Amino acid sequence: MFDNNRVRIAMQKTGRLSSDSIKLLTCCGIKINLKQQKLIAFAENMPIDVMLVRDDDIPGLVMDGVVDLGIVGENVLEEELLKRISQKSEYSYITLRRLDFGICRLSLAIPVSTIYSDITCLKNIRIATSYPHLLKKYLDEKKIRFKSCMLNGSVEVAPRAGLADAICDLVSTGATLEANGLREVQVVYRSHACLICRTGDINHIKKEVINKLMTRIKGVIKARE
Ligand code: ATP
Ligand code: ZN
Repeated sequence: MFDNNRVRIAMQKTGRLSSDSIKLLTCCGIKINLKQQKLIAFAENMPIDVMLVRDDDIPGLVMDGVVDLGIVGENVLEEELLKRISQKSEYSYITLRRLDFGICRLSLAIPVSTIYSDITCLKNIRIATSYPHLLKKYLDEKKIRFKSCMLNGSVEVAPRAGLADAICDLVSTGATLEANGLREVQVVYRSHACLICRTGDINHIKKEVINKLMTRIKGVIKARE
């Protein structure tokens, strides 16, 4: 039965943010029962329920008020925000804290054989990406017109497959780019994971839990610095 006094927090089920997100809650002293691969896991010692979902769904769950808190990459959050602005949909949320994991960057990369001197070399080319709104915002600001090719996966193989001339994808070490014969030429967006909260009425019982959690998160991050 859904208990309105328990704080619902959405985090990534499986992927690059999952273990760090769970670790953060665990370090805050929250005991989560993760035995079965279920959508919802319950904390045993605090009124907190953890919803395990795809990272792309987290900003929407918070913005639509389905959950109270979410841990998500700023890249995914900003993309959803720009998408909602373009569609004139609701998009309110509050960032409670930037976190110390999920550090990566969204970058433009081109085949190593392509000549590149500056950003104007990207004019009118086709760029494959899963982040069309972040890419458009960046290139619009630089007044570079381009064509986009939306791909939800395997973006890095698009140039080799003849689908695009360049890519705009997440990079951390650059090893994947190198393995695909690509070279990073511009950083579009620098990202960390962050903790976000929904707007609107939150009852005082939940507010107290959120405040307690925030104090502990601050302490955990400070101790890791
Ligand atoms: P899902 O199945 O949940 O949709 P996904 O495949 O879209 O997962 P992941 O690759 O697990 O996503 O990445 C999740 C988030 O982790 C990214 O949106 C980004 O914020 C961050 N991230 C991506 N690459 C790295 C990296 N190399 N190091 C740290 N964080 C990263
Ligand atoms: Zn995703």
